[in-house]
Amino acid sequence: MKQISILGSTGSIGRQTLEVVRRHSDKFKIVALAGHSNVDLLEAQVKEFKPEVVGISDEKIYAREKHRFSGLTVLSGADALIEVAGLNKADIMVAAVSGMAGFLSTLKAVECGKTVALANKESLVAGGKIIKETAKKTGAKIYPVDSEHSAVWQCLEGNNSRSLQKIILTASGGPLYGKGSEELKNTTIEQALAHPTWSMGKKISLDSATMGNKALEILEASVLFDTHNIDYVIHPESIVHSIVEFTDGTHIMQASPPSMIYPIGLALSYPDRIDNDKMPFAFNKPLNFLPKDEINFPLPKLAKQALKTHEGAPLVFNASLEAVDYLFLNKTIGFGHISIIVAKILEEVDFPTLNTAEDVVKAHNEVYEKVLAEYNK
Ligand code: NAD
Ligand code: MG
Repeated sequence: MKQISILGSTGSIGRQTLEVVRRHSDKFKIVALAGHSNVDLLEAQVKEFKPEVVGISDEKIYAREKHRFSGLTVLSGADALIEVAGLNKADIMVAAVSGMAGFLSTLKAVECGKTVALANKESLVAGGKIIKETAKKTGAKIYPVDSEHSAVWQCLEGNNSRSLQKIILTASGGPLYGKGSEELKNTTIEQALAHPTWSMGKKISLDSATMGNKALEILEASVLFDTHNIDYVIHPESIVHSIVEFTDGTHIMQASPPSMIYPIGLALSYPDRIDNDKMPFAFNKPLNFLPKDEINFPLPKLAKQALKTHEGAPLVFNASLEAVDYLFLNKTIGFGHISIIVAKILEEVDFPTLNTAEDVVKAHNEVYEKVLAEYNK
């Protein structure tokens, strides 16, 4: 029985992880759950999965609602996530918090030598070097939950990493692929969040509409698979989750239905595979691979440039994207401003050197605050 803790259990990945655990209760046991503010859902999850430890990171909500969890160890505040991440009993920690709020807890689990099922890509993009160096020392394993990275991981299995030529991530295109620049400028929040194939949290849905998510995924892949040779292709069906090109010209692709149940299940069960619903379709429909639009969706190109520029540039990309996402969702800037501001910030700032976790947190906060100071008007 694998003992599992979930950070961000009330979010999209958290809920889908619990679905996997629900279906495979003979294999997985929940020992800790942590959420931010949705205590109604957290309480329902606690009743069903009976963890020993609960984390509520919003302190006000904790003070008001902790009585609901009497008899359990209930942790609160920003450190709640870190304490849950370090919990002795958990073999696998699912990092399912959204944004840089997940960084220190992800690092803590790695410091403790745990297996981390990693959905929280922002941690790796900003603090990849430190997380990887720490994992090397402690023997912690990082198994990707992001579907594209899970696909690459599966394509690479059994192959010598020296044979890796290129990674080609797939992208559904989001709700806006194919639209022209005039139309894109006036995109509303509702249009940006209406993803055609995936149902996800707000930030990643917006990032899918701007292609900021693919940009982050390029940076995430560079950390996980030690290469800068990464590109992407539009694949609207979201059936093939990524492609690896090898030095002999062979391409290996991974396919599964467009549901996070599959990559989450693999990250929890590896090296075994668990029983899932089998793909309901036969391969009797076209699978399309379409060209990317780098004019209207420049963020992936900016991310690729960032990779080549400086080790601190991906952090700056991530922090400025997190800030502009916040501003767009608060109706302070328009959709068309998102990539313009990220590009401008990448040109303006001095890239940080990132030797410690403190360096990462400080540099992230500085960039985030700079964007808010300049554009939150
Ligand atoms: P979500 O918004 O649905 O859930 C986020 C979770 O994090 C919630 O439980 C929330 O309570 C918690 N949280 C948010 N802010 C917090 C804070 N300041 N402190 C503590 N907890 C906080 O997001 P999601 O879609 O589940 O995405 C989570 C992560 O997984 C992201 O990094 C995303 O990029 C990645 N991811 C998601 C999907 C998907 O299908 N949803 C796919 C691939 C990768
Ligand atoms: Mg993804």
